Parts: sequence; C-alpha cells; structure tokens
Amino acid sequence: MSSSAARESFDPEFLRRKYAQEREKRLRPDGNEQYQEIKGEYSYFLDDPYVDTPLVREPLTDQVEVAIIGGGLGGLLAGARMREAGIEDIRMIEKGADFGGTWYWNRYPGAACDIEAYTYLPLLEELGYLPPRKYCDAPEILAHCRRIAEHYRLYDNACLQTEVKQMAWDEAARRWIIHTDRDDRIQARFVVMVNGPLNRPKLPGIPGIDDFKGHTFHTSRWDYGYTGGDARGNLTGLRDKRVGIIGTGATAVQCVSHLGEWAKQLYVFQRTPSGVDPRNDHPTDMAWAASLKPGWQKQRQKDFTAILTGRGGRRGEIDQLDQFDDAWVEMGKIYRRRMREAGKDVPREKVLEVFELANFEKMENVRRRIDEIVEDPETAEALKPWYAFMCKRPCLDDRYLPTFNRPNVKLVDTKGQGVERITERGVVVEGVEYELDCLIFATGFEVGTDYTRRAGYDLIGVDGQSLEDKWRQGMRTLYGIHTRGFPNCFIVGNGQASFTANYPDGLDEGAKHIAHLVKHFQDQDITRVDAAEEAEQAWSAEVYGTEARGPMGGTSCTPGYYNLEGQHDPRAKHNQPYGGMMGANLYFAKLEAFRQAGDLPGLELA
Ligand code: NDP
Repeated sequence: MSSSAARESFDPEFLRRKYAQEREKRLRPDGNEQYQEIKGEYSYFLDDPYVDTPLVREPLTDQVEVAIIGGGLGGLLAGARMREAGIEDIRMIEKGADFGGTWYWNRYPGAACDIEAYTYLPLLEELGYLPPRKYCDAPEILAHCRRIAEHYRLYDNACLQTEVKQMAWDEAARRWIIHTDRDDRIQARFVVMVNGPLNRPKLPGIPGIDDFKGHTFHTSRWDYGYTGGDARGNLTGLRDKRVGIIGTGATAVQCVSHLGEWAKQLYVFQRTPSGVDPRNDHPTDMAWAASLKPGWQKQRQKDFTAILTGRGGRRGEIDQLDQFDDAWVEMGKIYRRRMREAGKDVPREKVLEVFELANFEKMENVRRRIDEIVEDPETAEALKPWYAFMCKRPCLDDRYLPTFNRPNVKLVDTKGQGVERITERGVVVEGVEYELDCLIFATGFEVGTDYTRRAGYDLIGVDGQSLEDKWRQGMRTLYGIHTRGFPNCFIVGNGQASFTANYPDGLDEGAKHIAHLVKHFQDQDITRVDAAEEAEQAWSAEVYGTEARGPMGGTSCTPGYYNLEGQHDPRAKHNQPYGGMMGANLYFAKLEAFRQAGDLPGLELA
C-alpha cells in the first residue's frame, strides 16, 4: 500500500484491481449486438398501452413553415422558443397520443426524476410555476409538459399519434416532404428533429425469450390493465402473482419497491448493480422561493451543469456547489475538500490522483450504505457497485435497498453474466429455473445504433443521399445541429452537441439557437440554409479530437450504454458530444458566440 493509501479508509490498489476484474467479467464480444431490435414478432412490445381512443383522421397534404418532430421536452422547448421568437406557423408531429416524450411512455410505478425539479423542469419562470417539492414524479412532469404545450399553443395544428416514416428534400420547392404512417404528405420549409436519446426500447437477446408463456411487457409500456394501480403504485393485480424483473438500471431501481410491495413473490434478476444514493425529498422551502431573483433558473441550470462537468470544484465557484445538496454534487464536494488538502499549485498528475481518490471515496459511501440498510450480508454484497461514479447512471432512491429485506423479494444475482435462458415457465440463472406469472423487461433503450434506426425514419437529402449513408462511419455535423446535404434541417440531440445529466438544459440551448436562426431566416427571406463543407469538417474534427470522457470514464468503465458496452467502436468518437462528457457549458458558450457574431459563419445561405 502506498503512503497516501495508508491514510485512507480504503485501499486504492484493491479498488483498482476489483473494478478491473468486475469490468472484465462483464465484457462480451457481441457488445451492443447482444440486444435485439424490437420489430416483427416482438412489435407488440411497442404498442401504446396509454391511448384510449385511437385517432382517425384524413391524410394531410398541406404546408407549414416549421415542422418539429418529437413532442418530448426537446420538441416542446423548440416550439416554446420559436413562439417566443414570434414564429407562428408550427406543426408538432408526435408518435404518442399526447406530449411528454419519455414522460409519456415511462409511466411505470415509481417513475420520477432524479434531478431536482427546480433544475430539471424547464421554463419554470416563463410559466410562473414552482414545483411543490424538491423532486417531481412522472405524473407531475407529464402535467408540466402539457402546461408548456398549452401555454405556447403547441396543440394547435399538432399531429399526435403520428409517426414520421420518411423525410425527403425537394430542391425545387426548397421544402421537406414529410411522409407519415397516416399517409400524410406534409411540406415544411424547416424541420427540427428532436427524437430523444432513449426513445426506442430494447430487449436482450436471451435464448428462449419468445418461449415464455406468462404475461410480459417492457417498463416503458407498463401494463396497468394487468398489474392494477398507476405510476404512484397500488398494484393490486399482482397480489397473487410471481413476478420477475430483468434489469437493475435507473428504471428498475424506481419500480422494484412497488413490485415488492404488491407481488406475491418478486425475483429481481441482476447483472450489474446500480449505485443508489439517498433521495431525501422535501417540500419546497417557501422562504428560499421568495428570495429568487429573475433569471434564477437559467443560472441554476448553468451552475448544475458546471458542477457535473467538473467545473464546480474550482476556487471562486464554491457558492455554486453549496446551493445544491444531493448525491449529484457529493462527488464534487469530496473532490473540492481533497484538492484543498492537497494545497496550492497541484501538478496535473496529482490532480488526476486526487480525482480518482475522491471517486473511490464517493463509491465507498454508496457501498457502506448498502451494508447499513440490507440485512442479509450475501444480498448486500451482491448489490454493491464496483465501478467509478458516473460509469452508470447514479440513482437517488430511498425505497429500493430496503425492499430486499422483504421476505417475498429475492435478488437473483447473475454475477455479471446475465440471465442464462428464458423458458415457457420462467427464467433460468445458474441452472435454477424461477417460475413466473409475469416477466418485466427493465432492459433500457437503444443507444449507439444508427441514428435513423432509433429515429424510426430516414432522411433523403440533396441528390438522393440518405442520412443513414452519410453517417455510416459516424456523425458529421456543424454544431451537431446542421449536416451538409440536408438543408433547412436542424437536429437537437447530444451527438456532436452537448451532454449533461440535466438533459433539458442541452435541449433548451439547442432550441433557443434554432429559434434564433429560423427567425433570422424568415426576417431575411432566406429559404435555404446548409452547413459549409469546411465548417462541418472543422467542427467534426474538433469533436473527434476531444477526450471522450473525464478521467475514470469511457472504456475503463464497466460496460453499459454510457460506453457502448465497453467496445472500442471508432464511430463513437465521431458521435460523442462536444468535449465528451465535460464540455456542455463550453458548447453553450460556442453557440452564444456564433449568435453574437451575427454573420452566421459556417452556413451557406440562399
Ligand atoms: P438501463 O440501460 O440503464 O438498464 C438496463 C438494465 O438491464 C441493466 O441493469 C442491464 O444490466 C440489464 N440487462 C440487460 N441485459 C441483461 C441480461 N441479459 N440479463 C440481465 N440483465 C440484463 O435502462 P433503464 O431503463 O434502467 O435506464 C435508462 C436510462 O433512463 C437511465 O440511464 C437514465 O438516463 C434514464 N432514467 C432517468 C430517470 C431519471 O431520474 N431522470 C429515471 C429512470 C431512467 P447491465 O448494467 O449489466 O448492462
């Protein structure tokens, strides 16, 4: 043990070895290919269980100025910022029967947001709304989405229950032709694509998956007709049922306590445990609320993003850090304390060492809490995450760990190998068959597959080129927003743009930027805009050249969707956000500088 390790309550050498061993156990040669696309005989997993009245309408063949594809928070923000800019002729196109996107689909019991509501819920000041508690649950977020849509009149002219199937550029008309599953042929001068990063549920390719004869569904299409209850629990239909859930990511962490409370027997099939921190929810402090000054929310979002991207620990930014009090900033606080202890002018190698030790300390806290809560030592051991903070999405939940103390709940740990087989009766792990009435897939969403596959439609741009072809070797864009050969099309997402765990922050920056551009084009009678070749090359090279993740991230992490299942896919560096996981506020500053410049550098206008 080194001299610095001797002072620690943990052994860094042991942790380095343990993390590497646990990661090694989970690496699979098939990487992302271990999952199967939901289509064909599995399509029923995608059916919308929330729609009461299927829509019947005639196909549309009209024209709009702006079509926004996707009615989740990103689409709503794009619509809202356009309305604020004075753009009236907007059509939102959305697959769900209402707005909400991820919050429309994810209504599983316990669904809630792990980021504080003051930061996560967009447009609080614009709407004059303050959440009643620090955290909000899925029904409140869905209500907020509807609030945004109503406030900004986005239901007007919207096409809900409508899926885009293809978009083709008509050079002569300088418009996009949008084809949908309702045989619409809508012409749009500008299109904004906000498909969402986690919009396509995925299934694991476990042998025998279609043999199961019991009831089954994916968490993002929760079948309350079967379970009873709603997103707040009360799953009375499960009282006499043996239920299995595959997956222990952020979704499962939220719904397992409800399943444990209501099912006759619950089996939780785990491959890799999540890190679970306390939630400590509380009502909004009204004295604090009264003290807020105009502009507070944007500033709070910026501060939160600064902390999550490693900028919260610097001297002079201490106030930023202290206004938050949750597990997201705990790591930053530990790092700040350790940097203070390390003294002035710390060399770069030492900074990385301090960062690593802070990360170890943070995760030791997570592991210690499991020992404090979970009574059975073997179960407690199996629930411990052996990887760095932010290798997987941190979870904030007070009910998950105690659920494993219930007599009707069993953790079936697959020791990193995953479920062995599914039979007509249940699930097999290490040769033992667990008989089930209901099997729930909490197995997440497609990430790292082709953009157009996840979107569910292809784009045919100038000279018949498809976006799928153009991006076959990875994304090429200007600011992640424009891609040459696809004029008048704007993308809001994280590829070559920004990533922050407070996802709506990045969506809003993209929305404001695009609203600014469209307004400018309308005012100047500009009917065609495309990225200049050199500008696109320069931006794509800049993105490619940045470090993929902060220290202790990327492929050194345990496999998962954050790191393409631990595979070295050369496309991943093209598709990463600007500055990897650390560049969000820098990216926002770049967009701001572009808008300030006024002469739209890098764009070809006609
Ligand atoms: P994830 O992709 O995070 O989790 C999928 C789970 O399925 C993992 O535990 C995975 O194990 C497991 N799994 C996959 N294949 C197998 C197999 N063959 N056998 C056993 N287990 C298997 O999906 P989630 O839906 O949980 O979360 C997705 C994202 O949604 C989160 O990361 C977060 O960004 C977001 N979310 C946000 C919330 C919020 O508070 N705002 C709340 C809930 C979700 P392994 O880890 O080993 O791959």
